[in-house]
Amino acid sequence: MSIVVVGTVAFDTVETPFGHGENVLGGSATYFSTSASFFTDVSLVAVVGEDFPLEHVDFLQSRNIDTTGLQRIPGKTFHWSGRYGYDLNEAQTLDTQLNVLRDFQPNLPESYRDAEYLFLANIDPDLQMQVLEQVRNPKLVACDTMNFWISSKPESLKKVLQKVDIVVINEGEARQFTGEANLVKAARQIIALGCKRLVIKRGEYGVLMFTADSVFAAPAYPLEEVFDPTGAGDTFAGGFMGYLANTGDLSEEGLRQAIVIGSVMASFNVEDFSLERMKRLEYPEIETRFKDFRSLTSFSNIAIK
Ligand code: AMP
Repeated sequence: MSIVVVGTVAFDTVETPFGHGENVLGGSATYFSTSASFFTDVSLVAVVGEDFPLEHVDFLQSRNIDTTGLQRIPGKTFHWSGRYGYDLNEAQTLDTQLNVLRDFQPNLPESYRDAEYLFLANIDPDLQMQVLEQVRNPKLVACDTMNFWISSKPESLKKVLQKVDIVVINEGEARQFTGEANLVKAARQIIALGCKRLVIKRGEYGVLMFTADSVFAAPAYPLEEVFDPTGAGDTFAGGFMGYLANTGDLSEEGLRQAIVIGSVMASFNVEDFSLERMKRLEYPEIETRFKDFRSLTSFSNIAIK
């Protein structure tokens, strides 16, 4: 099965305690599609400017990502600058230049409109809605967002959240969106808007997956070296959705397995700057880390008297 993703393809300028990257390849759709491409076919909907190097498009195509929906229009590519302190969980946005994103009209190629899996990655919620309206009969729709859109377009965002099956969001954003400090209560509020499931990403503390009456928790893979957390959330979502599209198993068990695959993919991405680790990643490494993850979280069921 194939996935359609709409999101940003970007230049990022990132500072972490371990280094600095200027105008490196980034963007929510870039990280998502690269990660998902290890499991399924991915079709990308995004916009770049005339300054976007062809070598980045070649990279996406080398991962078998369909770039028919990647528009190149006059102007500059979307640019995000951020900084991380020693607490690598929360990025501080220094600057967001929307550039070509301001005039972007996401018209889906005809071949994308029958997609069964749709991911509305972090982008303007009005654009997320436009894409959602063009896909005819999706089996599963999930979306992400970020503080920038929660503050600037809360009403548009609310409409998107009401129309999707799964919301994938950071813990800080779940708190900001609901004004509720307790994550369990924040989750209840977001689910009450109408989505069936909520996945809350908690950086090095792992992931929580909520339905109206269940919770599943997965830790993050404990790494000795984390260089750049940029894109971890999108890489997680790419692994999660890519695996679901691959297996077609939307049962509780299948979704839990997908959460772990997403966590495995994110754990690789943070090991180097930009998409450098994903460019070197080989499928057998994913299988090995998945097995390590199983032993990390496995324990026996003892009777307590
Ligand atoms: P994350 O997975 O949350 O770390 O996503 C990081 C990516 O999101 C970066 O590569 C940025 O280019 C992209 N990004 C940053 N701000 C925005 C925004 N306001 N809208 C869409 N994408 C963004």
